[in-house]
Amino acid sequence: MLRVGLTGGLGSGKSTAARLFAARGAHVLAADEIGREMMRPGEAVYKAIVEHFGKSVVAESGELDRKALARISFEEGRVEELNAIVHPAVIARQAKMAREIGAKEPAAVVIVESALVFETKHGDAEGETGEPWRSRFDCIILVTASEAVKVGRYVQRVGGDALSPERRAEFEAEARQRLARQIPDEEKIPLSDFVLENDGPAEDLELQIEQLWPVLRFAAEAGHLREAGFGPVSN
Ligand code: ADP
Repeated sequence: MLRVGLTGGLGSGKSTAARLFAARGAHVLAADEIGREMMRPGEAVYKAIVEHFGKSVVAESGELDRKALARISFEEGRVEELNAIVHPAVIARQAKMAREIGAKEPAAVVIVESALVFETKHGDAEGETGEPWRSRFDCIILVTASEAVKVGRYVQRVGGDALSPERRAEFEAEARQRLARQIPDEEKIPLSDFVLENDGPAEDLELQIEQLWPVLRFAAEAGHLREAGFGPVSN
């Protein structure tokens, strides 16, 4: 099995890239989706959040109030408290899902799609410090695009041409704010094994994925053979 981290800033196109890899046979685990599921009422993560932050983060429906949580996290500077509850649980769930896939398909390519591969302080191992992504992934793919393109795509996704100029300006400001909380591409590039440049049309992204996919497949097969006891050929 090859464990791949697929990351990129908001609006870079990482979900689009993930879909293109999935269409070629990769197993994609989306961190956002797993996080949302684990934050549903009845889940341990939900319980831990309510215990930690109090009833003010629960909406009338009984679900977590996303806006209240965002306010507490970012305006009150408590995002690390929330991350300390959510991230280890999501990472452990991803690792478990990857192991299950690997048990059934030893040469699988498992892609974890997450905006926060480099940002999170949390890793697989209890108390792990430093660069926890290194032990979680065999390689990292970064999707890049300029800030203007990322902001434009975000606005397009949340409403696009139907938005009034005021709403558009609000969403643009929100996108910039969220991007400012992420590590810039220039710092992520040297930490990544592969970079997919996604400033151009979607076909260009697909072409890069077309080229990268066999490399991932090969690495997954080779890793599986090594694990199965077939070492490198020597004279
Ligand atoms: P992310 O997951 O990084 O936030 P998405 O993959 O959701 O980004 O892409 C954001 C939006 O931009 C989506 O609506 C997507 O369809 C669109 N998009 C992604 N890549 C391109 C591209 N190369 N050209 C045009 N639109 C794109």
